[in-house]
Amino acid sequence: MTIPAQIVFAADQLQFVYQSAPARFLQKLEVGEVGWGMADSGLFAIEVDGERIDAMHPDLLLQSVNHTTPAAGQTQTQLTFAYAPLQLTIDFFVMTYSGATLCESWIVVKNHGNTPQTITRLDSLVLHIPSASYDMLHYTGGWGSEFEPVRGRLNGDVRLETRAGRSSQGMHPWCTLWRDGRSAMSVSVAWSGNWAIRLDEQNDGGFELSAGLNEWAYFSVLDTNQSVTAPKVAWVLNDNPSLNDLAQQYAMIGRKYWYPHAPLADTMPVEWNHWWTYEDRAINEEVFRANVDVAAKMGMEVCALDAGWFGPSDPGTHWYDYRGDWHNVNTRRFPSGIRALADYTHEQGMAFGLWCEIEALGRHAEAAKQHPAIVATRHTAPLGYVCLGSDAGWQWAYDTLDRLITDYAADWIKLDFNLDPGAGCDRTDHGHGAGDGLLCHYHGYYRLLQAIRDAHPHVVLENCSSGGLRIDLGLARQTHMAFLSDPDWPEHSLQLFWGAATMLAPDALLHWGFCEWGFADHPQQTFDPQSTALTVSQLDYYTRIGMLRRFGFSQGLPTLLPWVADRYVQHITDYKNTIRRFVKYGVLHLQTNQPRRDGTLDRYAAFQYVLADSAESLLAVFRLPGAKPRRVIPVTAIQPELQYQLTWLGDNRVQTMAGADLVNGLNCDDLPEPGAVMILIRAIRPA
Ligand SMILES: [Zn+2]
Repeated sequence: MTIPAQIVFAADQLQFVYQSAPARFLQKLEVGEVGWGMADSGLFAIEVDGERIDAMHPDLLLQSVNHTTPAAGQTQTQLTFAYAPLQLTIDFFVMTYSGATLCESWIVVKNHGNTPQTITRLDSLVLHIPSASYDMLHYTGGWGSEFEPVRGRLNGDVRLETRAGRSSQGMHPWCTLWRDGRSAMSVSVAWSGNWAIRLDEQNDGGFELSAGLNEWAYFSVLDTNQSVTAPKVAWVLNDNPSLNDLAQQYAMIGRKYWYPHAPLADTMPVEWNHWWTYEDRAINEEVFRANVDVAAKMGMEVCALDAGWFGPSDPGTHWYDYRGDWHNVNTRRFPSGIRALADYTHEQGMAFGLWCEIEALGRHAEAAKQHPAIVATRHTAPLGYVCLGSDAGWQWAYDTLDRLITDYAADWIKLDFNLDPGAGCDRTDHGHGAGDGLLCHYHGYYRLLQAIRDAHPHVVLENCSSGGLRIDLGLARQTHMAFLSDPDWPEHSLQLFWGAATMLAPDALLHWGFCEWGFADHPQQTFDPQSTALTVSQLDYYTRIGMLRRFGFSQGLPTLLPWVADRYVQHITDYKNTIRRFVKYGVLHLQTNQPRRDGTLDRYAAFQYVLADSAESLLAVFRLPGAKPRRVIPVTAIQPELQYQLTWLGDNRVQTMAGADLVNGLNCDDLPEPGAVMILIRAIRPA
């Protein structure tokens, strides 16, 4: 094969050219003439027994270049390098998209020799970014504190990572860099396990940016003809500092190429889930049916049975200890079985959802004793999960999910994961090595969800992990939505949505309105829908936050006050008739800074969803506690020469405004504190 002297990955708004001869170097990585990679950028890197090999390594030979078109608008370029001293090949893949300045890159390392080789590091992206003044934003994450922003000047080496074994426990796999306040770059590791993004200061004042699998506690031993595939890294470059521009590219490519589809998921159904009001101790078939009856009348479209349905019937047992025993139904609570509940829900014209923590094994689970081959262990101690890097574990998980979906006629599976696998399984009888059990688990989990979607294309898959502790672009390709967090009190919920929207489209996210917590204690989860002190504006504020993405309720429906139920019906109607179209198709503009759960900084939050033709948009404005009474909210996609009709959804208010006025923003001076409005903005012809 003849290797071209210049390899062009992209030549649209993004200029990405690699020189292969006579010398190898990164010739150009530019958007709008702003360069992001110095010539000596490694592009990728691996370590073999501690020796680093990247694209600049003198002993690396470029063997072949391949361009393919996996789908319209998508170009995949594969560079195959050979490293003769160790008889390895490294395939470096770059996916580019027409009309976008977003790329994905990843590597596959293969051993062609007879000597086993130990791979100790896999970086799917390595760039030497120029000397400049950099600001960086990333998020820390923990239970009830997901998407907590950390922003500051880049000064010295920085390492972002998780070692918990799930992607957003500790930190979220995403960051954005601003260069001299004039241009920006965002990086996200599309991986659900241990990842790392590093910025290492260079002698020239620039940084080496590297991203991929976390090398901590990792190694793969490759025997003859064995290979290892590294996580994908998605990255976006921009010649201006707009975070909205970067976020919109993740969302656009996600919607077009990454997120899976299912007919029910595509309708953006309004959900009821039993958990927060009833948990396990107060749910039973009578209570569930009573809620289904009301949900149907209120216009909801799916009812989900959360934890509490499986395991022993003895009331002294706790569900957490029996995860894995999905063959046991708690017959004390559900004497007619789960299928009867599903059938009842279907008879009321709604879909049926079921919670399952398919990877987990509780400490008393019979499944672990009956199937010892599926158990993930480290230093022989059980880790509390099923190793999907083993054939036995994978098949058990597939058969279990397949049976639950079929036998219980489930339309929706809420997949939870309530543990930290840490470095993962080190068994050597699972088909993976002692150092890459977690890597193989996640490759196995992705394959499992793909296989379930292939076998049950109608089923909706929801990604949850102790709330939002496994949110990433890897699982976003395998599930229809990510659940943002267990708590959902208003300011927390607004902060999460803003943060999550910097990497995922709103239709890839689910979080309910302010839930009624029947049992669990949380200082902020104090919402009582039966309180006589509750006002309409409070209720609207709580509920409209939930309507910014996929929408639902976790409240006791039969006990709602009549006026509250009526108001919810109004909101559900507005969501179905108007709002969800914007959530599904609209381009989201974050019109204020990130709201903060700690009560500081900006006390207004505004989000605008603009449809492609820009003739219609939806503006959601929230006045948080402590906000000043007046605020001008920026409004985008307005043409000064047109007239606009503004319709306050659910509030019986319509107003006409000149585009020439609206381009200067919308003056909000009559929102209650707290309060919320959702305004449909439509262009009308000039009179
Ligand atoms: Zn294993």
